[in-house]
Amino acid sequence: MFSSSYLDRNILCVDALDVNALPMGRKTRLLVGLVHDGLGRALRIPVIAVRGTRPGPVFGITAALHGNELNGIPVVHRLVDSINPETLRGTLVAVPVLNIPGLVRHEREFRDSTDLNHIMPGVPDGNESQVYAHRLTSRIVGSFNYLADLHTASFGRINTLYVRADLDEPTTARMAKLQRPAIILHNPPRDHTLRGWASAEGAPAITVEIGDPGVFQPKKVRRTIAGLRALLSQMKMLPRRSQPKPPPPPLLCETSRWIYTDRGGLLRVLPELGEQIEEQALIAQQFDIFGDLVREYRAPYAGVIIGKSVDPVSPTGARIVHLGRLAKPGRFPNAEAAG
Ligand SMILES: [Zn+2]
Repeated sequence: MFSSSYLDRNILCVDALDVNALPMGRKTRLLVGLVHDGLGRALRIPVIAVRGTRPGPVFGITAALHGNELNGIPVVHRLVDSINPETLRGTLVAVPVLNIPGLVRHEREFRDSTDLNHIMPGVPDGNESQVYAHRLTSRIVGSFNYLADLHTASFGRINTLYVRADLDEPTTARMAKLQRPAIILHNPPRDHTLRGWASAEGAPAITVEIGDPGVFQPKKVRRTIAGLRALLSQMKMLPRRSQPKPPPPPLLCETSRWIYTDRGGLLRVLPELGEQIEEQALIAQQFDIFGDLVREYRAPYAGVIIGKSVDPVSPTGARIVHLGRLAKPGRFPNAEAAG
């Protein structure tokens, strides 16, 4: 028999997330209707909401806004599993996938090739991706008081576990610190990202970049969950329990940029993720198709490798490394870990 999959289970179909209508002390699975496809079939976003027994903030965790960025999905599942609603203060809203068309097509973008994280909060009467973005923000994300948006690197690249946050803003700086990633990058949110929109709406937001695209990476997933639990405990949403020994304090970066190739060829990137390198350190070699070395690339400044390319086929203008420039001690007091 053909099963209708999860739709035949006890899941609430709604037009918008209404946190105050959720039962207290319980986990609720919802499908929030957003749009319809060309056959008139509803496209609904799965949401897992855990409403505690005591009033408190709404903390949202979203994943897969880029459809090929998957590590956030097990983070959401396992974090929700670990929470007892009886002891939760406030509400945790977990959205395992924001970009459903992208996820099913293994693609970063929405189905009209638009990057949803460049058009937030969308347009109510706009085109396909604009209206989808608008309904994501107005029907779901708009009810959050805080946001952690989970991403990974893009195809052809790999990332450390790092957080992008505005470190001049005390709340987001503390959120980033408690998340305890390998690296925190000071990055005031640009317009039209989900993080930028949420912040502008008064919901402090961080982006957590969890490793590589298209895979589940258990170690990075575990570390992200531990960070989110520490953050929720510090906000007194979760009871304090003995935390596992925290990982080493993150490196703080004041700025970063990608270093690109200036000619085409096969690229071999040398430094490891998280490696600290000196100015003028050799970062990559490029070979032509006969195997002859044609170019060497050196670091324009000293820094730390936040991400790097793993795709050898590199035209002119291909990414090499994402190089963070370390902040001077004392530059971001709210993000500096005590130890
Ligand atoms: Zn992303």
